[in-house]
Amino acid sequence: MSDKATMIWRCPTCHGSLSVIDTNLRCESCQAHYPVIDDIPDLRVALDCWIDLDEDRKRAREAADRVERDGLEATIHHIFRSSRGMDERKAGYRTRQVLAGVEKCQSQCSDWLKPAVETNGIILEIGCGPGQLLAAAATRGCDVMGVDVSLEWLVIARHLVERYGGKPELAAGFAEQLPLADNSVAAIVSLDVIEHVGDQDAYVSDLRRVLKPGGFFGLSTPNRFSLSPEPHVNVWGVGYLPRSLQARYVKLVKNQPYTFTRLLSVRETKKLFSGSRGFEAEVVFPTIPEQELSGFKSAKKRLALIYNWMVGIPLVKLFLPFFGAYYRVSGNIKN
Ligand SMILES: [Zn+2]
Repeated sequence: MSDKATMIWRCPTCHGSLSVIDTNLRCESCQAHYPVIDDIPDLRVALDCWIDLDEDRKRAREAADRVERDGLEATIHHIFRSSRGMDERKAGYRTRQVLAGVEKCQSQCSDWLKPAVETNGIILEIGCGPGQLLAAAATRGCDVMGVDVSLEWLVIARHLVERYGGKPELAAGFAEQLPLADNSVAAIVSLDVIEHVGDQDAYVSDLRRVLKPGGFFGLSTPNRFSLSPEPHVNVWGVGYLPRSLQARYVKLVKNQPYTFTRLLSVRETKKLFSGSRGFEAEVVFPTIPEQELSGFKSAKKRLALIYNWMVGIPLVKLFLPFFGAYYRVSGNIKN
């Protein structure tokens, strides 16, 4: 555990300072204890979520051993391969996707996330997963921090960011109860996370709490009202249904559970980021990037090209909240 880590991270419950006791951390205010696994503090609290915390800690220890023994790529592959519903081919595809993700994030860092990269303070990613964005930001000389609900993926993130020359500060934590002090970070990025948190209002409030005045935030999420299929279950039309029917519909069509996923409409998001909370937020529907288009089959590619063309038409823009696939929310905290 580095001194820097105990300076940065706080108790998720009371935001008190943490000190090292044996190999654990202890909150100096409320005396709560937190384990440290593979040098990563586990600052999660008992919240309802899709992950089994004990199982995740066990898998994180295994991943740490495996990286040393078999290398990073083999470990990522093993994590996917041992997940539910994954076969050899899918695991291989997802592994390549993770590794190629760094380059994709590089281009986001030169585009809409430029303000985050250009702050002189620390960048925090909430829901950093295997750490592709942190790796991309680290290559630009940023100090990077990541919080994720999965300790197993944080083990991967550390090795991936180090491969790109960064030294990330990582902690397992919940997005609704960030283990950080008030006004402590200059920029927050959180991609495809808001739709999975248990309490979206608490998530936005906590993001606001830890950002410094003037700080930058950049989020992305699939649109609830989209003409493309719901991306997590690949079922069309889910978002147009009332929420009370969505899970039943997905069960009926695909025989899959639809839990811990709550896509937001633009209106719902704007309400969460309303000005009264101190945000100056802008919603943008981006075009599908060139790099992604090249991976599409021809019919999908044609549709994607039509979509990209439509997104640029002013009149169409007005209606994007009712059919666009994906949007970004970004801006600054008022000074
Ligand atoms: Zn505490």
